[in-house]
Amino acid sequence: MTPKIALEEHFMHPDFVEYFGTTATNISPALFGKAKEALADFGDRRIAAMDKIGVETSVLSLAGPGVQAEKQVAVAVKRAAQVNDFLAQKIQDQPRYGGFAHLAMQDPRAAADELERCVRDLGMQGAMINGQTGGTYLDDDRFAPFWERVSDLAVPVYIHPNNPPERVHMYADHPELFGPVWSWTVETATHALRLLFAGTFDRYPNAQLILGHLGETLPYLMWRLDSRWEISNRGDMRLKLPPSEYFRRNISVTTSGMCADAPLRCAVDMMGADRVMFAVDYPFERPEEAGDWIEAAPLSAEERDLICHKNARSLLKLRELAL
Ligand code: MN
Repeated sequence: MTPKIALEEHFMHPDFVEYFGTTATNISPALFGKAKEALADFGDRRIAAMDKIGVETSVLSLAGPGVQAEKQVAVAVKRAAQVNDFLAQKIQDQPRYGGFAHLAMQDPRAAADELERCVRDLGMQGAMINGQTGGTYLDDDRFAPFWERVSDLAVPVYIHPNNPPERVHMYADHPELFGPVWSWTVETATHALRLLFAGTFDRYPNAQLILGHLGETLPYLMWRLDSRWEISNRGDMRLKLPPSEYFRRNISVTTSGMCADAPLRCAVDMMGADRVMFAVDYPFERPEEAGDWIEAAPLSAEERDLICHKNARSLLKLRELAL
């Protein structure tokens, strides 16, 4: 079995279940109910699920959207720190866990400070951000202090899907399309493109973004992004590089919730084998399915090693564990 680092693995803070029950509008109550126990477990159950598919390290993140849905900024900032302190303790107790910081993006400077605390003092590897915050996306000017800190700390930012700020008309009469079937993909891919076309990666060339679901369809579209960007309504917008180039320098994708060969090959062939990383999306997806699939997927031995563990180890600066 190829050793693995899994990057989109969720948990829940036990004291916060009720609170997040009111804010976690992006998870269906039925799915949340089923996942609740697995989310709260940091012991045998989670470790057994990891062992079964050769996951050496799980990088844990709070099930979203968490404090980003909080209306009171001070409460969001305080609760984010509580979540991070809790996760830090779990990481300390179990060396096979890493962590992505949970941040109150309502206050970009506080989020930058908290990210620094999580990385420097609490042993975390980056941040997971659950989409928009109160209708604001990460390309907004107010996030400049955040991106500066991300760049200084040289840690990745994982954009996890969330709902759009309003339910737009194109989803009318189709509740099944609103959520993981489709709208999360539109929302998250658009978020990433907003960052790219805003010139974020020109201003912060070492900023690193991570997207789940094998890139939210974007690897498939890279050629067209370059071709149509040329004739788009871009006004005086300028980029130093063709759009596709940023996918090879500043963006990585994970296999979370996607176990299909053709889209995997598409991501590897378009972005490079050094830009794709393994993830399960535990406990919302089945670890055995993800593990069995990646072992048998049409990859060279070298590509499989990069995707399963080597890329994540270098991007997240994770040390090798002797298991
Ligand atoms: Mn997830």
